[in-house]
Amino acid sequence: MFRINLSHTKLEQIEEYINLIRSYSDIPICLDTQGAQVRTGTLMGGHVNLESGKMVDIVTSPVQGNTTKVPLYPDSVLQQLMVGNLISIDFDTVLLQVVETGPTCRGRVLSGGKIGSNKAVSIFPLVHMPPLTSIDYAAIETCLRLGIRHMALSFANHRSDVELLRGLVGEDVEIITKIESRIGLRNLADIIDVTDAILIDRGDLSREIPLESLPFVQKQIIQSANKSKLPVYVATNLLESMVSSSQPTRAEVNDVINTLLDGADGLVLAAETSIGKHPVGCASMIRTLINQYERQVDLSIPERNLFSTSRLITPHGGRLIGRVISGCEDQSLKGLPQLDIDKRTMMDVHQIAVGAFSPIEGFMGREVLESVLAGNKLPDGTVFPMPILLQLPAEKTHNYRPHETIALTNAGKIWALLYIEECFTYNLKDLAIKWFGTDDTDHPGVLRLLSRSNCFLAGKVDLLSEYLKCCQPYEMTPAQSRLTFEHCQWQKVVGFHTRNVAHRAHEYLQLTALSDHHCDGIFIHPVIGPKKTGDFSGSIILKSYQHLIENYYPFNQAVLGGFMSYSRYAGPREALFTALCRKNYGCSHFVVGRDHTGVGSYYSPDASQRLLETVGDIGIQIIFFDEVYYCQKCMSYTSKCEHGKEFNQKISGTQARETLRQGKILPEWFMRESVSRLILEELKNGSEVFVD
Ligand SMILES: [Zn+2]
Repeated sequence: MFRINLSHTKLEQIEEYINLIRSYSDIPICLDTQGAQVRTGTLMGGHVNLESGKMVDIVTSPVQGNTTKVPLYPDSVLQQLMVGNLISIDFDTVLLQVVETGPTCRGRVLSGGKIGSNKAVSIFPLVHMPPLTSIDYAAIETCLRLGIRHMALSFANHRSDVELLRGLVGEDVEIITKIESRIGLRNLADIIDVTDAILIDRGDLSREIPLESLPFVQKQIIQSANKSKLPVYVATNLLESMVSSSQPTRAEVNDVINTLLDGADGLVLAAETSIGKHPVGCASMIRTLINQYERQVDLSIPERNLFSTSRLITPHGGRLIGRVISGCEDQSLKGLPQLDIDKRTMMDVHQIAVGAFSPIEGFMGREVLESVLAGNKLPDGTVFPMPILLQLPAEKTHNYRPHETIALTNAGKIWALLYIEECFTYNLKDLAIKWFGTDDTDHPGVLRLLSRSNCFLAGKVDLLSEYLKCCQPYEMTPAQSRLTFEHCQWQKVVGFHTRNVAHRAHEYLQLTALSDHHCDGIFIHPVIGPKKTGDFSGSIILKSYQHLIENYYPFNQAVLGGFMSYSRYAGPREALFTALCRKNYGCSHFVVGRDHTGVGSYYSPDASQRLLETVGDIGIQIIFFDEVYYCQKCMSYTSKCEHGKEFNQKISGTQARETLRQGKILPEWFMRESVSRLILEELKNGSEVFVD
């Protein structure tokens, strides 16, 4: 919520501020009244020094103050001053005692010091103040006219103060009553009866109660509000040091988390976001702390870990699998039986070993496979929709046996070890139907499955660290992407899976997901493994995104990584599987578009969504998008608008490929011209743009 503080805002600025906020955001706006408070008026030069022992005139606020005149407002307070009253200004900076009242009101300075304009004033004994000032009345009228639905009542002392405001604003406006005086504290139970929410202003409250009591009073107010199921918010000094510094202190972080642990429903920033140097940093720090609190305390999250050292989402199954071994002597491995595996199976070994498929540690055996096929879950109940199999080639060269360790080779070199636990056969047509929903050999996943033998090996794998030396540029392991996000101070990260160069529909999806879900950054993670002939090559996809990130994307909000994997064309299973992989890479959110991982017309567009509904919570939040098009009438990207189909311009990877192949630039609404030019340039240079 945005708060407009009437103690620091002129009446005539209110409408302008409201319009300004509304032009950027639909976050609710709250008017914070002056209420029953006394403040100093305007002082010459902003502040003046009052000397101990001197006499000063106490005047009404339109008069400008100086070393001999102290203006106070509201004006009504002067009529109530009595000889002997003590006046404390700006948290005991200066203490005056009233020595004369009447037409001229005078006081002596008991304790001198420097005071500022518009500073809080306390009078002892307390004088009676009306609950709302004349400025409050006028501001409330303006705000009601502009449809403001939240009002904060400052310095509420009695139930009747809240009732007075209720009479003015009606039942539709939420009244947030601020507890910041001793009387308000005493009448808390009464106030709770009639207000919609409570705000503890620790700043002003601390002028009336000993500082050391404040933490206990805070707990007591929160408990009372919680008991009555009333929202309760806490204000003042939460990130005070960030007014000038870019990071909070440890004590501030403790205070914020402990305040949330006390049971506060919300936190209020004031100076931090109004006059501080880092307003955005403060808002994002508060969000980080709230997210952390929610993750650690929410008992509904099964992977709860109170002593987590990372702010990122926990890997799937609870921990990141790491099965990379180093120091293996080639000689000792030479004697092992060998199995040459294809490039795609090698990629699976690699991804298993670096934890991208956590909690999977090897190739699946029959029991695990049946469980995955039947219910998209591992036998222990962990969601896992994708069979990860080591299928033997058609011609067998060795009779593999359980408990045997074999060396996995690719292109003649040993890269990994497989500890065989099981050898089994499976009817391939049956498997295809259970896995892909079809045994049609036009389906590329089915075709690959049926082209090899019906024998499978199961068991854990270890990858030799040598293999990681031949990784592609931009490739990242889950441990590396997590380290990167931590370094960026991200917590909520959107994962984006793609097989296409950067076009405007995907750019729209990425930035919309980022802002709609209040994420800290996006992890653009294109598939750079083997593809179909005619597809964009991994390197051109990476180049196009590198160009976007350098030139167009919000600073420090996008990281690009290559995902060395391949399409299995398994439709909804694959959407879910690619999401779980990104969870392991540290993403809290994942974008699934309409044609995410499908092929042909084997899967209905909402199949992924329906599958997600049946498997339940998987930790990572899936963001579903319908097909995005450019509407010529709206002049923007959307997946739904009122205009007819004739105004909808489709954006597809297929069309991008065709046009660019002809050496033509795509329209700006389809692809940024600089991206088109970059791709055409690469084509001209003979670089690999399309897979042969
Ligand atoms: Zn439209």
